[in-house]
Amino acid sequence: MTATQLTSENERTVVDAVPKQLLIGGSWRDAEGGRTLDVEDPSTGTPLASVADASPADAMRALDAAVAAQASWAAHPPRERGEILRRAFEQIVARSDELALLMTLEMGKPLSESKAEVTYAAEFFRWFSEEAVRIEGRFAVAPNGAGRMLVTKQPVGPCLLITPWNFPMAMGTRKIGPAVAAGCTMVVKPASQTPLSMLALARILEDSGLPDGVLNLITTSSSGKAMGPLIADRRARKLSFTGSTEVGRKLMEQGSQQLLRLSMELGGNAPFLVFDDADLDAAVEGAVLAKMRNIGEACTAANRFHVAGPVAGEFSERLAEKLGAMKVGRGTEDGVQVGPLIDATQRGKVADLVTDAIGRGAKAVVGGQAREGAGYFYNPTVLADVPGDAKLLKEEIFGPVAPVASFDDEAAAIAAANDTEYGLVAYVFTRDIKRALRVSEALETGMVGLNQGIVSNAAAPFGGIKHSGFGREGGREGINEYLETKYIAINL
Ligand code: NAP
Repeated sequence: MTATQLTSENERTVVDAVPKQLLIGGSWRDAEGGRTLDVEDPSTGTPLASVADASPADAMRALDAAVAAQASWAAHPPRERGEILRRAFEQIVARSDELALLMTLEMGKPLSESKAEVTYAAEFFRWFSEEAVRIEGRFAVAPNGAGRMLVTKQPVGPCLLITPWNFPMAMGTRKIGPAVAAGCTMVVKPASQTPLSMLALARILEDSGLPDGVLNLITTSSSGKAMGPLIADRRARKLSFTGSTEVGRKLMEQGSQQLLRLSMELGGNAPFLVFDDADLDAAVEGAVLAKMRNIGEACTAANRFHVAGPVAGEFSERLAEKLGAMKVGRGTEDGVQVGPLIDATQRGKVADLVTDAIGRGAKAVVGGQAREGAGYFYNPTVLADVPGDAKLLKEEIFGPVAPVASFDDEAAAIAAANDTEYGLVAYVFTRDIKRALRVSEALETGMVGLNQGIVSNAAAPFGGIKHSGFGREGGREGINEYLETKYIAINL
């Protein structure tokens, strides 16, 4: 590994403080053969740290540890499971500045956004610390009056949790929180590009009193080879995956061998609808949030703007003015609002989509090119008059690019919004309450942001339909993904 480019003592301290080994059965250990993988700073393209690079045998040891701990963890009092999560919530909040810095270094987003993610991530632990003691069943008289019916909930068993790089901590806590609350043990595998936040989180859970073997963490450069045998192992009872639809589909196929229980939080292609009766100030503000949060690298990112014909021009101009004024730079610098994309591949994909749209007749109102120099920066971009056949209306952009297309009437807006295989979230801006509800109900998505550009909330069920997957994280629904329902028929 070449010399790191950490620019301050503070940065070095937070990176050095993170454990870099695998956590298996309560002990931190090197990967087989001492192999390591480099983690890069996307703002400079230089290595930041090295972490253990687990082999398939290491991964299997992690599953062995989760299986060994399952029975005693399931018997652990729910109140204590909840209190472990509560302590972890408090520690995350107390250490949010250093955790945010760590996240910015490995993922690139501006510090203020990392801070927001750390808070959001902690909220899942607070929420599920409260849910741990509310796992309920029921007792009923059978309809024939003769028997009794007892319905109870039990933990699913050892879980495999796989998370992406774009929200390195929150995508973990919204799986780990309900798994801990329900009494499940787990093997967690974060994305190889951003393992540091998850490693820090594992240490916090350890310090909060999570028993050995409940959470096992592996980092690896060969996720398919390491996780494949675990997915095929009948001792694993559940796979919860957040990532691309393409990989999700592959994992579903693998999981079908042993009918593994699945939760799939996959890609999105969110439409953002602005009707001519909308408050345009609110719509532009919501658009900036829905598009630019996380540098556009969010499954919930507004991917395409469908705007009523009479206001489309003004909307594009105003959005371009806001995006064009955003400061691009290393996420640690003061006032930066747009960090680098995660890597060269992602930046190349964004550039290709923009070139395709312009080639088909779209106009760049602002931006339209990558930034010169080190790091994977792409300038915030607004494209107007985007034709229906442009690729970026169909594919997840995952970058700071806002394509605007106009529509004639409500039916055309709904048809355009639903013209995608994805179905995670949609945004609707209108002041007409009847239209708001009519359109929200007609949209083929798991979530709708009504006159607001963000939907994420630990107390709400997050998830999609169609190719955005299935299962819900957060809310009252989140814990059910980690529970089985058992019915006991009682003969009196
Ligand atoms: P990805 O390439 O699908 O990877 C996601 C995770 O799966 C990473 O940990 C990755 O590890 C791992 N992985 C890849 N191939 C695997 C395999 N064959 N077996 C086991 N694990 C494997 O997605 P990404 O690029 O990291 O994340 C971006 C995607 O996530 C976008 O499509 C976004 O929309 C989606 N996302 C969805 C939600 C939601 O809640 N719906 C939330 C956030 C993100 P390595 O990268 O280390 O190989």
